[in-house]
Amino acid sequence: MLIAGNWKMFKGPAEAAAFCRELRATELPADVEVVVCPPFVSLSEAVQTLAGTEIGVFAQNCHWERDGAFTGEVSAPMLRELGVYGTIVGHSERRQYFGETDETVAKRARTALAEGLHVIACVGETGADRDAGETSEVLRRQTAVLEHDENLVVAYEPVWAIGTGKTATPAMADEAHELIKSVLDVPVLYGGSVKPDNAAELLGQGAVDGALVGGASLDVDSFAAICLAASPS
Ligand code: PEP
Repeated sequence: MLIAGNWKMFKGPAEAAAFCRELRATELPADVEVVVCPPFVSLSEAVQTLAGTEIGVFAQNCHWERDGAFTGEVSAPMLRELGVYGTIVGHSERRQYFGETDETVAKRARTALAEGLHVIACVGETGADRDAGETSEVLRRQTAVLEHDENLVVAYEPVWAIGTGKTATPAMADEAHELIKSVLDVPVLYGGSVKPDNAAELLGQGAVDGALVGGASLDVDSFAAICLAASPS
């Protein structure tokens, strides 16, 4: 099981360091891989504060070129130099607000993996896609552009469930995960309003290999509670 906390645009360096100090002092289940994804400016603090622990630090995005004239972007070798372990790519907020397409997401994933980063690639249908009966087609299309890699994980995040308090039913999540796995045989995380009180049921589904958590990852107690819910022991 992998539990990743996506902090989005929250927690500058001082807050990130305080969170990570508290997290490293918290008992976490040994059989759950735990990852935090701070904003770029807080990565260094997180890496330093979590040094010597099993908790991984991921970026929230990563460019497909190693360097070049790409104002505002950050590359995989730069992240590696900081000691960052992996990166999210293709989060729905990147697709929705910053013009990410299936192709740019695939390019970002490919380079990050080639440069030695682990990758969480996000896919998921919008509410309109689901209402139109197009969920399977969208998930197939978004997943098919990705290439299998042992360091690649997909996160199924129905866009209508992100930050809304709505979650896919466990059965809906399981069905979507099975479909994604039939296209690409990699672990699949569920994301979309995962909280301490719904985590165990969602994570108990056969095809759910962990969670990508947004809002509930910003507080150490609720993030740790989700990590505990992921532990079968
Ligand atoms: C996310 O940002 O990836 C996410 C799933 O957010 P939330 O848990 O807040 O819905």
